[in-house]
Amino acid sequence: MSGSIAVAEPQILHSSFAPRLVAWQQAFGRHGLPWQVSDPYRVWLSEIMLQQTQVKSVLEYYPRFLARFPDVASLAAAPQEDVMALWSGLGYYSRARNLHKAAQMVMAEFGGVFPSARAEIERLPGVGRSTAAAIGAFCFSQRETILDGNVKRVLTRCFGIDGFPGDKAVEKRLWLLAERLLPVDATQMPAYTQGLMDLGATVCSRGKPACMACPMADGCVAAREGRTAELPTPRPKKTIPTRHTVMLLASRGRQVWLERRPPTGIWGGLLSLPELDSSLAAEDWLAARGVGDVLPAWPEFEHVFTHYRLVITPQPVRLDALSGREAAESGGQWLDVDHASEAGVPAPVRRLLLQLADAI
Ligand code: SF4
Repeated sequence: MSGSIAVAEPQILHSSFAPRLVAWQQAFGRHGLPWQVSDPYRVWLSEIMLQQTQVKSVLEYYPRFLARFPDVASLAAAPQEDVMALWSGLGYYSRARNLHKAAQMVMAEFGGVFPSARAEIERLPGVGRSTAAAIGAFCFSQRETILDGNVKRVLTRCFGIDGFPGDKAVEKRLWLLAERLLPVDATQMPAYTQGLMDLGATVCSRGKPACMACPMADGCVAAREGRTAELPTPRPKKTIPTRHTVMLLASRGRQVWLERRPPTGIWGGLLSLPELDSSLAAEDWLAARGVGDVLPAWPEFEHVFTHYRLVITPQPVRLDALSGREAAESGGQWLDVDHASEAGVPAPVRRLLLQLADAI
């Protein structure tokens, strides 16, 4: 990969990094994305959506969300269920809960005006230093650096920095380096910040970086030494535990029973299927509510979270008649199975609801 790339000292990159990046972004970077605006509300929304989510999906969700919540005031005033429903399918739902809380904080503490200082933006729930810096750079041309996963990849490769970037010491070194690389001219901050994002996303990709198209190639340590596959240093291996759950697919005609999860924890505040310890408990669930049949369980499948693997056994139950006690239960509701997947439900539950709609 490094064969035809001229050798240069990485030091060269320190002073030329920003000018190279800005020139490259203007010529080859991404332009015309709907969030390339100076309205901090729109930039903030895009930054939160883009954490953990591909641009392609965000391009779908972003306009829908903005059409319903065009400004921070409308988002702050909305019921949480409406926010969750529009987020449904994007995953990492704490982002949506924090977005909602942050909008309320902008209204209550900043008089409805989005704060401009990085330290103040960083006080909003769900906003870390890198996101606050992106808003500061894009909307207020502040000389603040972002440092997300893509930028860490570019910097560790360009400057040959070993060690897992999630380690505190390595991360601190990367922040200091990223700050030193900022352009002197603050008016270049939007193009520079977009350039960092674009280079990491489109050229210096995880699997196959396109070094020949990269403006840093002649000074990049990883390209020169053929180390793009080993930088950034991967996270030290650790096994994650497996948990099992049985998800009850209780149907009554073309209706399905969903319950709202507690506000905190995994899938907090979303509608979901009841969970049982075992398929045997489905008999008890049914007996407590009416007459019907426990049907054969569907094949189990896995959903992987950061900290554990959840093995889900879907257990269908058909209720033919209610005993009357079910109606008094709180926290749950019968929903039309053909529309249930459109409510704010977690991704694996949506998948099961779509299968159920086909099966009954
Ligand atoms: S694309 Fe290649 S040359 Fe450019 S920063 Fe990444 S590894 Fe270095």
